[in-house]
Amino acid sequence: MVKASIRDVMDGQRAFFGSCATRDTGFRVEQLRRLYRVIRENDALIMDSLHADMAKPRLEAYAGEIALVLNEIRYAIRKLSCWTKPAWVMTARPLLPSVCYTLAEPYGLVLILAPWNYPFQLAVSPLVGAMAAGNCAVLKPSELAPAMSDVLQRLFEDHFDPHYIHVATGGADVARELLEERFDSIFFTGSTRVGRIVMEAASRHLTPVTLELGGKSPCIVDSDVHLRYAARRIVWAKFFNAGQTCVAPDYLLVDSAIKDEFVEVLSKQIIAFFGTDPSGSPDYARIINRLHYDRLCSYLSQGKILIGGQTSPETRYIAPTLIEDVSPQDPLMQDEIFGPILPILGYTHLEEAISFVNARPKPLSLYLFSRDTRKQEQVRLETSSGGYCINDAVVQVASHLLPFGGVGDSGMGSYHGKAGFDTFSHTKSVVKNTLLFDIPLRYVPYRFKLRLVKWLF
Ligand code: NAD
Repeated sequence: MVKASIRDVMDGQRAFFGSCATRDTGFRVEQLRRLYRVIRENDALIMDSLHADMAKPRLEAYAGEIALVLNEIRYAIRKLSCWTKPAWVMTARPLLPSVCYTLAEPYGLVLILAPWNYPFQLAVSPLVGAMAAGNCAVLKPSELAPAMSDVLQRLFEDHFDPHYIHVATGGADVARELLEERFDSIFFTGSTRVGRIVMEAASRHLTPVTLELGGKSPCIVDSDVHLRYAARRIVWAKFFNAGQTCVAPDYLLVDSAIKDEFVEVLSKQIIAFFGTDPSGSPDYARIINRLHYDRLCSYLSQGKILIGGQTSPETRYIAPTLIEDVSPQDPLMQDEIFGPILPILGYTHLEEAISFVNARPKPLSLYLFSRDTRKQEQVRLETSSGGYCINDAVVQVASHLLPFGGVGDSGMGSYHGKAGFDTFSHTKSVVKNTLLFDIPLRYVPYRFKLRLVKWLF
């Protein structure tokens, strides 16, 4: 996109925002309803484009992308009048007889930069928060999911005023051009590396940022566990979307007492889900592009493969793979894997697993499988992560009632439901005094007023 056209779009959006049209909650509800209808009417098109980009199974496309966004919209429509009400605050003594309240105010123009792995959900779900909060938005989908990027552009062009919502397609060059402009809030989902670039660019305009980043999400498996249930949940969570999920368990830390037995149960579960040749399963996605495929293939030589390891460059297929005897120094254990390869490491005491986690950047999610409530508490207390999920994995993103976000290297800020509305709102504090009378205590000459002031404060 040429610079002039970004400027034109933004000028148009500033004028539209300045008209106060988006301040009206009726307008917001109407636009959210429209978005809901457009998605419902085009769900087949959305699923087709997700299949074209990464052979995403239709159920995964619906459950992991469309349904989550529809839930978000329904919830925002239901709650909007409550979220936009003034929140009355008790008047502090020095401010009497004023009344005080806070109010959510839209930022203005927001920029949403999205990644490719859930290219519909991770673009539109933040947009729901931005719309509910009364902003105008520029949305840039990921160039690595071109079919979805086209569909988003078409749907928004056909159904929304570009002075309200505009989709800018393109790659990093377009993102960089957008980042040069002054937005009022930036919401970025993607890698930690690009997150740093975004934050640096935002600092030039002092624009607030929300960073939804990635990293290695560990999964600890204690010996006091239901092996079959734990294996089934982990295999599902890891190989959903072929491991290309920001909150997928990146590696397993398994109590050495059960490691061999657990590997066997995991392997059986992979076969139960995808058959002995997962390349023939209609329920298994492909790697997004050749670059990521090659990166993932290079990890396969960094340990001993227990099951899987088969690849096909033509279809960018990598079988669900379990791997052990890995070195913490190798790229497999340094980089975020973001694919269907699951390293398995053993530990003797839980403290050892906790130290392993704490020696690395704070993850987006941390998983523990254990029946022992003392250990569940210990891990929660002694580690820090964006989210913590006990006896399950990945499912925490599916609730619009739970704020979702990272901490440290895995991000800052959160969204989903009310948290999404708050992320795209400025909390304005309002004080309103009366003109019926005027208390003279604060005015000069001060003389003997100090004692009274001391009492008041
Ligand atoms: P990415 O950081 O490469 O790209 C994300 C967006 O940034 C894209 O729109 C891209 O065009 C843009 N971009 C790329 N390079 C840029 C640059 N130099 N300057 C400005 N913009 C640039 O991420 P990705 O490969 O699309 O997604 C994978 C990553 O995203 C993983 O690390 C994953 O964990 C993370 N992720 C996080 C979440 C979350 O909710 N926390 C969700 C999904 C993915």
